[in-house]
Amino acid sequence: MTRDTVTNWAGNIIYTAEELHRPRSLDALRAVVADSARLRVLGSGHSFNEIAEPGADGVLLSLDALPSEVAVDTAARTVRVGGGVRYAELARVVHAHGLALPNMASLPHISVAGSVATGTHGSGVANGPLAAAVREVELVTADGSTLVVGRDDPRFDGMVTSLGALGVVTALTLDLEPDYEVAQHVFTELPLEGLDYEAVAASAYSVSLFTDWRAPGFRQVWLKRRTDQAEVDFPWAAPATEKMHPVPGMPAVNCTEQFGVPGPWHERLPHFRAEFVPSSGAELQSEYLLPRGHATAALHAVEEIGAVLAPVLQTCEVRTIAADAQWLGPAYGRDSVALHFTWVEDTELVLPVVRRLESALDGFDARPHWGKVFTTAPATLRARYPRLADFAALAAELDPAGTFRNAFVEAVLAG
Ligand SMILES: Cc1cc2nc3c(=O)[nH]c(=O)nc-3n(C[C@H](O)[C@H](O)[C@H](O)COP(=O)(O)OP(=O)(O)OC[C@H]3O[C@@H](n4cnc5c(N)ncnc54)[C@H](O)[C@@H]3O)c2cc1C
Repeated sequence: MTRDTVTNWAGNIIYTAEELHRPRSLDALRAVVADSARLRVLGSGHSFNEIAEPGADGVLLSLDALPSEVAVDTAARTVRVGGGVRYAELARVVHAHGLALPNMASLPHISVAGSVATGTHGSGVANGPLAAAVREVELVTADGSTLVVGRDDPRFDGMVTSLGALGVVTALTLDLEPDYEVAQHVFTELPLEGLDYEAVAASAYSVSLFTDWRAPGFRQVWLKRRTDQAEVDFPWAAPATEKMHPVPGMPAVNCTEQFGVPGPWHERLPHFRAEFVPSSGAELQSEYLLPRGHATAALHAVEEIGAVLAPVLQTCEVRTIAADAQWLGPAYGRDSVALHFTWVEDTELVLPVVRRLESALDGFDARPHWGKVFTTAPATLRARYPRLADFAALAAELDPAGTFRNAFVEAVLAG
């Protein structure tokens, strides 16, 4: 089969795989898997590195032509969602049933399976990554058979944030909670000097700080307050006087409603509206998760190299994530702070700055986001992920011939 050029969302990765398969049924999917020596699934392609690249002799598999499944069980408060479904579609259906997800990432455009595979997260001191809502994984393994694994299985904590290395996730079952509303408030110019990060991070259900590191402190603070929770004062910065976009110069109309107008959870938890291009649209991204106790010291370390970062930086976002149980979750075992960087879309300019940033964060036990640009050495990853060896053993058990391995996964497991 010949194919048109396929790239990731950012356009910095051109997949070299000879074949792109888009099966229309589960049986067709199983047949492709059973016939392939090397295969990787492409979700919605929002990762910025070669995590989904199977290599020139491999097969790229998209689930976007499969019948889309979002089946809510209102009594059990769960939803079964197909492996190709994106959060925007999932959220619409869940909301229509009077139910909600606990959290969302900054954009609803991403696939659920691809997001939880890389440890994608939103913000909130009590909110785990999106993978924390998963209660059951259904996957097609290398021989084309189906494996269903729930939370009671000892392998479960290796199965959700799996980098796509265990099989094709054809469905996930997620926990839901009763519907809730969120009001979003934006504040401007929060000083870093004297910052009580714990208090700021705990001042709303979900808190994000944004800066360009061109001047001291933070340009914007986004608070997402649940209307069913007591409102906490925010005395550290002034309320914004106009609607804002986290990337300077971009139109606020792309963003979810602000000025405290209450609305459904799925129209406030992401920063960007489903019907608009998220973020700047022309960018690369990196992100590092560190123990939350290091937040202030790490922010000062980043500020010190602000002059190195600023020329290639569009915006930097600071969020919190509650400790995760997934072995490969970047928040595994520790309440975390996430330092995110939206760069210009120029790999050559950005990579040396990423290296400089990584050395500035070296003393803080930083774990890179699996779906973004990083240069952390495999041996360092091994040291920072105490369950990496368990994951490698699980991958060897479920995929002995290495059908779902690629260069990215080999490097991670090689550490
Ligand atoms: C504008 C923008 C904003 C972002 N904001 C956030 C954010 O707020 N928080 C955050 O944490 N991240 C964020 N990200 C990163 C993004 O969430 C991750 O890259 C995520 O993995 C994207 O999901 P995807 O479906 O596009 O995955 P892809 O990039 O397509 O794939 C990622 C991995 O998942 C695997 N995979 C996908 N589907 C399946 C499947 N069905 N079965 C098995 N394996 C599968 C792939 O093989 C690959 O290994 C953002 C990215 C962009 C572009």
